[in-house]
Amino acid sequence: VANDTLILALVQLNSGARTFLPYTAGLLQAVLQKQSKTPERYHFLTPLWRARTPVAQAVKHLQNAHLVGLSLYVWNTQRSLAIAKALKTVNPNCLILAGGPHVPDRAEEFLRQNPAVDLCVHGEGENLFVQIAEHWPNKPWSELNGLSWIDSNGQFQHSPRAPRNKNIQVWPSPYLSGIFEALLKAHPEEDWAALWETNRGCPFSCSYCDWGSATASKILAFDLPRLKAEIDWFVEQQLGFVFCCDANFGILPRDLELANYAANARERTGFPKTLAVQNSKNATERSYLVHKTLIQAGLDQDVTLSVQSIHPPVLAAIRRENISLQHYQELHKRLSADGIRTYTDVIIGLPGETYVSFAEGISQMISGGQIYALKFYNASLLPNAEMAQPAYREKYAIRSKIIPTVYLHSSAADPPDGILEYQELLIGCESLPEADWVRCLSFAWMTDLLFFGKHLLRPLLIYLNQETALSYRQILEAFLDPPHEYPLLAEISAFFKTKGQAIQAGDYEYCRDSGAEFSGIWWSADEFVLIRLLAKNQIGQYFTEVLGWLSSWLFQQNQALPTWLLTDLISVCRLNLQLAYRIDSIQADFQSNLLEVCQAQQAGQTLALVKKSCRWVKDWQGAPFSVRQQLL
Ligand code: SF4
Repeated sequence: VANDTLILALVQLNSGARTFLPYTAGLLQAVLQKQSKTPERYHFLTPLWRARTPVAQAVKHLQNAHLVGLSLYVWNTQRSLAIAKALKTVNPNCLILAGGPHVPDRAEEFLRQNPAVDLCVHGEGENLFVQIAEHWPNKPWSELNGLSWIDSNGQFQHSPRAPRNKNIQVWPSPYLSGIFEALLKAHPEEDWAALWETNRGCPFSCSYCDWGSATASKILAFDLPRLKAEIDWFVEQQLGFVFCCDANFGILPRDLELANYAANARERTGFPKTLAVQNSKNATERSYLVHKTLIQAGLDQDVTLSVQSIHPPVLAAIRRENISLQHYQELHKRLSADGIRTYTDVIIGLPGETYVSFAEGISQMISGGQIYALKFYNASLLPNAEMAQPAYREKYAIRSKIIPTVYLHSSAADPPDGILEYQELLIGCESLPEADWVRCLSFAWMTDLLFFGKHLLRPLLIYLNQETALSYRQILEAFLDPPHEYPLLAEISAFFKTKGQAIQAGDYEYCRDSGAEFSGIWWSADEFVLIRLLAKNQIGQYFTEVLGWLSSWLFQQNQALPTWLLTDLISVCRLNLQLAYRIDSIQADFQSNLLEVCQAQQAGQTLALVKKSCRWVKDWQGAPFSVRQQLL
């Protein structure tokens, strides 16, 4: 390394859910190497990318660096800052930059709390990174746009942001520049995934998001030949999982061509195996074709409908009024007609939501045809989102709690060095007092337990909704408030409530347990309940209590059903569950043809109910996990 060499390193730690190649780090390196007048002056250390990289190991790797850039987001901020702090003690002259969405726009407090960070980089970092490196060892911060720092007098300084770079096509692709080849070669044991950026920016401005028109409304696109060459590179490297980080894939007319290109690659080579995209919010025909192409090629399995809420005051509060709910309904209908499954994203407890609007919304989404999956999320307050700003917090009386961030179905082991990541969770607001937020969460878990997830009672709920005057909300609420005579039902409902309150007090969003049946990973509360029922062999008691409680509750609602019919309904649910868990043979007796009636209902058809003795069997071990009717 020559004397005037600048040693640089970038830290872009993964969340642990998957192992992505550090795209941002690679892009910054590629841009600097291309745009510098003296690229030979730079020596890049391998970027740090591993989730839970031990601090001491990181410091050893970075100790000779002159300049270190941290890419901060919700899953890596604390660890990256811990690395910065330890690095500063062994190498005080190292210039440490922090960039990424988790660097607050108003950075004074952040800088004072993290004195190891010399500079905050706001907005897109590519140009600033080049300027900072090219000026090194000079530090003309006030002449550069989009920086915050504490000056030598201890004063906070901030320079206004530069307009966005309109011509991102001049930035080279890190994949095609060969930047990751050494990393891939050094770690063949990793199941590497790729982030694929086909365009940047989002025309929407959802208040919970730190992207969108607040910062980057105009969509700037990379050109087609580059993007196709990147797909070829993913194929060449045999990368199984590609995540498209565009906010709205399908928004540009050429996206269909890209989807077709990826589909052809998959068909020819088997790679990539998955191309996950976030769909465009308002372009029905093209969205439909893009998703159909990806799914028919086996690149994706189902389509996300990012509805979040159907309550108009919520859509106004989160600035999603201009995103058409009708578009989602049409997309759902057309894809379902092609046999393609959709799932609907719902965020719990957004400003403007009430318990009633939330539960009614869920009920309507199910009766409107979403019987495959609703995915529930809690709302996180991201530092640069409108929702986290003081005026917004005040307007909607936002209440929040900082809780540790963990990922569903990822390892539930605590990090050995105790460094946890945190998120600020919304736990109530003006329209939704804290007790109602807990009830929303319990309602969501109950919906998952009974209808989605492992769909414990789905056929029963569909039957009751279709054949009685009861809405899904009423039926689900019956299980949220069962009487004490049904101790297991009451225990489940109490567990949801207690867990919701615990989250409000700072507990994890998910559940874990040391029992072998929990596999050492994080589970959602509804999954946790089901595993426990199975592990404790309580499923029989559960169905017995459901039968008892439903017959008296339906009577109270003037919707009583004959006992034989209710018994058959429970038997259908029980058989469904057995088919999901049991590999041995199964025999189920019914007093009617209800199983076929339920199958027809789930397929959107009708079949008359006939009272007659029926037996369904799976008289073989293992697959297929289906039953056949046996003549009696
Ligand atoms: S949530 Fe999605 S659509 Fe809304 S502003 Fe963010 S990126 Fe754009």
